[in-house]
Order: sequence, then C-alpha cells, then structure tokens
Amino acid sequence: MLNFREKIEKVLASGSTDARRPILRRGNESSLKGLYVIGDLAGAPVIKLAMAQGVEVVDYLSSLPEMKQRSNAYDLLDILIVGAGAAGLNAALAAKDKGFSCFVLEKEKVANTIENFPEGKWVYAEPDDRPPKGKLWLDGAQKEDLVARWNAIVRDNGLDVRTEEPLVSLAKQKDGTFIARTPKGEYRARKVILATGQRGNPRKLGVPGEGQERVYHRLYSPRKYHDEEILVVGGGNSAVEAALTLAERNKVVISYRAGEFARLFKDNRAKVDKAIAEKRIEVIFNSSVKEFRRGEAVLKIDRGGSREERVVRADHAFVLIGAEVPVTFLKSLGVKLENDWSGVPLRAAALTLATLLGLWFFGGHAPGAVPPLAGGLVAVAAFAGLAATGARGDRWSWLGLSFLVWFSVYGIKYGKGTEFWPYTGWGYKALSFFDRPWSFWYTVIYTVLMTGFGVQALKRWGLDRKDKFQIWRYVSLLSFQWIFFFLIPEFLFTWAVKYQWVGERLASDPQFADQAWRSYGIIYAWPLFFYTFFYDPHKIWVLWGVLLTFVIIPLFALFHGKRYCSWICGCGGLAETFGDRWRHLAPKGKASIRWEWMQLAILIAATIATLLMLGKDTVQLLRTPAEWGIYLYRVVADVWLVGILPVTLYPFLGGKVWCRYWCPLAKLMHLMSGAYSKLGISRFKIVANDKCIGCNECSRNCQVGIDVMQYALKQEVLDNATSSCIGCGICVSVCPMDTLSFGAPALARLPMYSAQPATRTTAAVR
Ligand SMILES: Cc1cc2nc3c(=O)[nH]c(=O)nc-3n(C[C@H](O)[C@H](O)[C@H](O)COP(=O)(O)OP(=O)(O)OC[C@H]3O[C@@H](n4cnc5c(N)ncnc54)[C@H](O)[C@@H]3O)c2cc1C
Ligand code: SF4
Ligand code: SF4
Repeated sequence: MLNFREKIEKVLASGSTDARRPILRRGNESSLKGLYVIGDLAGAPVIKLAMAQGVEVVDYLSSLPEMKQRSNAYDLLDILIVGAGAAGLNAALAAKDKGFSCFVLEKEKVANTIENFPEGKWVYAEPDDRPPKGKLWLDGAQKEDLVARWNAIVRDNGLDVRTEEPLVSLAKQKDGTFIARTPKGEYRARKVILATGQRGNPRKLGVPGEGQERVYHRLYSPRKYHDEEILVVGGGNSAVEAALTLAERNKVVISYRAGEFARLFKDNRAKVDKAIAEKRIEVIFNSSVKEFRRGEAVLKIDRGGSREERVVRADHAFVLIGAEVPVTFLKSLGVKLENDWSGVPLRAAALTLATLLGLWFFGGHAPGAVPPLAGGLVAVAAFAGLAATGARGDRWSWLGLSFLVWFSVYGIKYGKGTEFWPYTGWGYKALSFFDRPWSFWYTVIYTVLMTGFGVQALKRWGLDRKDKFQIWRYVSLLSFQWIFFFLIPEFLFTWAVKYQWVGERLASDPQFADQAWRSYGIIYAWPLFFYTFFYDPHKIWVLWGVLLTFVIIPLFALFHGKRYCSWICGCGGLAETFGDRWRHLAPKGKASIRWEWMQLAILIAATIATLLMLGKDTVQLLRTPAEWGIYLYRVVADVWLVGILPVTLYPFLGGKVWCRYWCPLAKLMHLMSGAYSKLGISRFKIVANDKCIGCNECSRNCQVGIDVMQYALKQEVLDNATSSCIGCGICVSVCPMDTLSFGAPALARLPMYSAQPATRTTAAVR
C-alpha cells in the first residue's frame, strides 16, 4: 500500500517510469559537470546512433575553451572513457585522432554487449540511409564478424582499452577533475565519458528461485539446447526471437504478462503466430511467474476475474524482459536522473506557505501586528529558501517555486478587487504599470514567453532537422498568438472601432465597440470560450460563434483531427513552446490514459453552464444556479485548470496537462474526429511502415502520452478513434527510421510537408 507521498510521486514521475534517463544538457553533459553520457544510456537505441554520439561528444569537448590545451601531466588524462561498446570505442578513436590523452575502462571485454548476443545473430546496421560516423566499422554482419573487426580496429589504432577493469566509483575534485576508481587502481581525468550502456543490467522478475542455476537473463547459445522443456518469460522481440530459435529443437512455453503481443515486429509476429498455430510454441498470456523451483516454474494466470496457478516444466528458464537503466550505479556516481523526486516535501510546502503569508502581510492586511516591510522580508527570505534548496536538487522546492509564480500570475489576473488570497485588494494594482492593467501585461508576458521559447522550439524541431512540417507548425502557432491573441484584442480591435475599419454602423454601436475582449472568440470556439454567447453579445458574435463551433471546427476536425491544439490554440501554443523542453515527461501508460475521463466531465460541466446561462439570458429562468454555475466554472476551469495547475506542472508532467485532461474543446474535437475515423471518412491518421526498431523515441516524445511505438511495431493506424493524438507530428520528426508518416492524403500530398518514404523494407533489429 503506497503512502500519500508515494502516490503523489507516482503521478508526478509517471512520464518516465518506463525509460528513465540521466538529465543531460548541451553536448550530453550530465548533472555532474564534466561527466558526459552517451550511447544506449543516453537514449541512442541502435549501434549506428550510439557510434554517432561517440564522435559528436568528442567534437563537442574539443570545442570547449578549457580543452584547447591538452594535458601534459603524466597522471592527468584529458578524457577517460568508460565502456568499450559502440559509443565508447568510437569516442576513443575520435579522441585519439584529436590528440587527447585517453583510455577506455571496460568491465569485461571489447564489444561486450554484442559479444553476448546469441551465437550467429545477424547484427543490423540501421538506419540504413545514414552512413556510420567515425572510425569504427559497421555494416550488416554476423556478430562474430563484427566483434572480430572491432578488435582489429582497436589493435590497429593502438587504442588503450583496459578490459576486465570496471569503473567502481567516481569522485569530483575541487579543481574540477575526476578521480576514477577501479579494482586495479585510481585514475585522474579532466573529463569523463560514460558509455556503459544498459544491457549489462537485465531486468529481473524479483521472484523466489530466480537466482537458480538454470534461470538465465540472456540467451547466448540457443543451439546448445535440444529435447528439453524450456520456459521463456517475456513478450518483446528478444523473448520471441529466443523462443522461436529454441523451439526448433525443444518444447517451448512462453509466459507473458499481457493479454497479447503488443510490441512485436511484424516479422516476429507472423513467425510466432505460425509457431503457435503449428503447436511448436505454447503461449500463456496474462501470466506471471510466482516462483521458480527445481525443474519447474509456478505461474499465476489471470483469467479475467478468476486466478489460477499452473506448474510448468522448465529444464531451463529464460527471463528476457529487457534491461534497466542502472539507477544505483548512476546515482552512486552523482548523476541525476529525470524525475528524481528527491527532497523534503514538507519543507517545500512550509516555505511556499511562508512566502504567501509574507506577501499577505506585505499587502498591509495586519499592519498593527506585522508591518508590511517585515512581511515582504519574510516572503523574500522564504522564496530564496525555496530557490536555494531547489538549486541543491530538491525537486519539491521547484514544484513550490513553480506554483508560487503561476498562482500569483493567474490569481492576480482574476480581477481587480477579486484577486486570490494573499493578493486581495492590492495585487492587481501593484502589477498594473504605465496605465495598463495587469491583464495587458500578462498577455505581453505570455506572448514574449511563447515567442522566445517558440523560436527555440522552431530551431530544435524545424530548422535543425530541416523539417518543413514543424517549421510551418511553429510559424502558425506564433502567428496566431501574435495576431489573434495579442494584437487584435489589445490594439487592433480598438483601432478598428476608432478608425471605423468595421464600418460606421458597427463602430458606433456600443454593444460591439466596447467589448474588445470578445475578439478572442474569433478563434476560440465554444466551449473553450463560451463567453461569446453570454453577457448581451452583439448578434455578429453569436453568428460567428455558431459558425465557428458548429461548421468550421467540425470541418477542420474532419481534415486535421485535433491539429487545432498544436497549430492554432494559444493554450496549446504555450505548451508547445515554453513547455516543449519537458514534453518527454508527459504521463505515460494505461493509468494516465484512464485519467482522460476528466475531459469529458469538463465538457459536460461547460455544456450545463452554457445551457443555464442561455436560459437565464433568454427566458430569465434559474438565475441563481446560472450565476453560481458560471462563477464555479470560471474559478475552477478558467483559472485553476487552464492557468495555475497546468503551467505549474509543465516542468513535471510536460506541457499538455490542460489540453489532454481538461480542455472541453479538445474533447469535443476528439469526439468528432474519432467518429469520422470510425465512419471511415476522416482525413487524419498516422501510419507506419515496417521499419520500426522499437527505440521508443516516438512514445517518449509524445506530449499526450500515446504509446506511438506500439502502433508502429504493429503497423496499426493511429487516429482519434484509438488515441487522443493532436497531430503535432513530433513522433514523425523524431523517428530515426522514418517509420511514421501522416497518412491522410489531404495533408501529406502538399509539397510543404516533407513526405516520408513509406514502404522501404528492412529487417528489424532485436
Ligand atoms: C538482443 C539485442 C539485439 C540487438 N540487435 C541490434 C542490431 O542488430 N543492430 C543494432 O544496431 N543494435 C542492436 N541492439 C542494440 C545495441 O546493442 C545497442 O544499441 C548498442 O550496443 C549500444 O551501444 P553502447 O556503446 O551505448 O552500449 P554497449 O554496447 O552496451 O556497451 C557498453 C559497454 O560498457 C561496459 N560497461 C558497463 N558497465 C561498466 C563499468 N562499470 N565499467 C566499465 N565498463 C562497463 C559493458 O561491458 C559494455 O561493453 C541490440 C540489443 C539487444 C539487447
Ligand atoms: S502521436 Fe505523434 S502527432 Fe500525435 S500527439 Fe503524439 S507526438 Fe504528436
Ligand atoms: S516508430 Fe517509434 S519506436 Fe519505431 S523506430 Fe520510430 S521512433 Fe523508434
């Protein structure tokens, strides 16, 4: 049973529970300055990409001013490389070429991970449209040939690889250098490159008997076994490939915890289906191992409501359920991982409250008891305390800081005189400068944030990758923000009235002219902006609101699904720009998808509030419930759910909390687009070719938490009937194999969207 803190942590860390990675900055530098992480450990899923990182990190190091001068002390290395795999060896070759003093520590032997692949395994050199970087050789080859080639390269280049010598600990010195300890000695280095992969850390079941002699976590020589009864645990590609090879000469049972194989390559899927049909392999779905005994294993099987146990003969058992990031090892080195909820939540909460209390006194609410100046000092001290503990790594303090900032921004914006505590009566005035109200400055800050971070995101996803789709998307988002959510409501509407650009009649009608705020309704449809229909609107707004909501939005959803959220909307815009750096933290997994029910609840609430308000305004019915309804909706949805909470949570749950869980317009579009897909008339979908290598990059970067990889592996269509995709296209852009593409001809055929090759057949790895 989880306690309260663990439950909160589980939610806040839900984005990276599956594929936690070290926090990396520019040049792959970890949270420990001077220590760089590359290869598998840094998310490079295949050999070729790991090799590329090896070259790139050394290029980066050689560009640093402090590395221009090479070390000439005999006991100080320029670079110490840990791990003699694809990434580490290529880095060492590049470092040697650049004249850095360097050697490689390797816990076992050169190319250990590949050496441990099953005998005769074919190693694929994917992605095949990119040439390998660096001096290490790579082409499709049997693993034995590849390892032999790499050993020859090590020899020919005179690389100093110290095999059978694992890194045990690393200590950062005051002068910025490192002392690395191994069982054989101590080494001092200016920079350390960690390329230890994660394959050496196979995931375990943690059940009794798993340590027995005949329970293995990797399969080295499948052909060694014959006429045996073998249990394979797992349902990924490694497990299924192992089972298929073993089944050639043995009786094989697969135990898999899920109800179907969801992550298999198409080829493996076909082969295993055939083997099952021919009774060469038995699969027990929804099962997990309770314990291993001598020569057998006890399985728990979930039969949908009833549970049973079955004893399976197992002369040998292979537990092939993937590998884990070596969290303990990394932490022992001082490397911080994503979503590390270290720190003291109570202290962070106390400091947050103290800041707010200080601000309350500062606002002059208890002048006799505590003078405003003292209150201000308390607020500053508590805020500084949060910042200081945050800087020392307390993630709860960052949560407190983030909350304070966005609670203040939105709580004050709520209205002059109705600001949230502790700003009541003074906050709005205090933040209204140069004759402009706080709401104006809020819009300015919003637009500046979006523009600054939008340019960064445009560079990251569009310009650097030469991805036209992303370039247009960010240009669109920034243009909508500037024109429709800033210039028009703040300036152009007033000028249009003043200079009668809208015609003399409309300009002189106070019902139209005095309500610049309604211009948000030009783009924001019901129910996101239901105010279009309330408070005595001019009929032009009502007509436009009806046309937008009931004609334009449904048509848009037909062709573009929910792209409104990722191309047009200002709320989505801040998430796509300011929130972009945290997109990989979006909650993932089935539980996080179940939380999406909240969006339907908000849509229903918005519909009820609208009907009550319309009833009140047109036939003067149910006035009090209507006023309460709109008041509650405004506070709960328009302030807390659209403002304070999601933006506070950007650095912890990614940018799309509002869009995914609470926005009623997103839900409305989802229902429409999903219905079009079911009817077979939707023009929006993502399709996959057969090149997926299961690297997880698409799923990791999907900000609405969709397990895109699962669709890609099965080559299933991803649309709004099966997911809440908002069509941002980041999964398409980030895929190293060009597996994904927008399938709808309406968009994909336009030349401005770079078409992805859709049907190249390559064999899959793993
Ligand atoms: C079954 C399987 C099949 C695969 N097939 C393919 C394929 O066909 N094609 C493809 O491109 N990719 C394939 N991959 C993925 C590929 O293996 C990895 O992407 C690649 O090996 C990553 O390289 P790396 O250098 O980051 O890490 P690794 O190759 O894992 O190298 C890490 C090295 O660090 C060493 N090490 C670990 N800890 C320490 C320590 N404390 N001190 C010193 N040394 C340490 C290890 O012994 C190892 O030699 C496959 C993976 C698996 C599991
Ligand atoms: S599935 Fe792809 S296009 Fe859809 S929201 Fe996720 S990353 Fe964006
Ligand atoms: S579809 Fe996803 S998992 Fe497959 S190769 Fe592309 S990014 Fe990796």
